[in-house]
Amino acid sequence: MNLNYRSLVFSDLDGCFLDHFDYQFDHALYQAEKLQELGIPLIFNSSKTSSEIKSLCGKIGNRHPFIAENGAAILIPENYFSCLEQEKTSTPRYEVFQFSRGREYWLDCIDSLKLDFGRDFVNFHDLKLCDVMDLTGLPEEAAIEAMERQYSEPIMWLGSPMRRAKFISLLQLKGATVRQGGRFLSVGGNCDKGKSLIWLRELYTRQLSIKTINDLAVGDSENDLPMLEATMEALLIRSPSHAFPEVKRDIGLYKSRNFGPRGWTEGISFWLQRQNIFHGE
Ligand SMILES: [Mg+2]
Repeated sequence: MNLNYRSLVFSDLDGCFLDHFDYQFDHALYQAEKLQELGIPLIFNSSKTSSEIKSLCGKIGNRHPFIAENGAAILIPENYFSCLEQEKTSTPRYEVFQFSRGREYWLDCIDSLKLDFGRDFVNFHDLKLCDVMDLTGLPEEAAIEAMERQYSEPIMWLGSPMRRAKFISLLQLKGATVRQGGRFLSVGGNCDKGKSLIWLRELYTRQLSIKTINDLAVGDSENDLPMLEATMEALLIRSPSHAFPEVKRDIGLYKSRNFGPRGWTEGISFWLQRQNIFHGE
């Protein structure tokens, strides 16, 4: 594979590459193939599980590393980087690097608050497959993959904003990081999409013995902010369900006019046009 490591694209999935409502990616596929042709790695960086992202990568022929569960784990295809040397794989075909405690720990924290907040939320672990399918709109196979969480726990909040704030502060006292995604609150470790992006980008620079990489982060929600603020350029995708999150940067920020995968295609295409100028092509 001809990899043009000078450029990297880190992208969120839900509401960006995937449609917020039906998870379709047809409208993003052409630009994803374009990135592939140009040798620019498309690296998914999502709150989804590694099972879900592996499955998507398989469908679209993406053989690049990816970041799962809000930065909790980075999965790198075996032999992708020669500079990784002795760090051995913990699952077939991928080297896995973990940045959070396991899900069981966060489940214990959440369980300890059920006496006081039991009516205010439901969490994934207590749901049946059909409930997850209802809440997420995912088909059966995808819902099973969504339930295979290893490092974090999604919560559907039902109570008042004031009780939500109290609930979050109690979880934080137990060491949890709580983030709002497109649909769910995510309870997990002190990791985020930005820290893991920087860690992975470092590997690319080590591999190529170069100092800087021309990278783009693509996201639509609050949990994407750390990555949108960590790259040379950022692309915010317009959401049909919420306003743009507030990104603390003015330079190198582009906001899509279209929603979801159409906005993804619009923004990537705009970015690529400028890369051609940048590379003098
Ligand atoms: Mg999203």
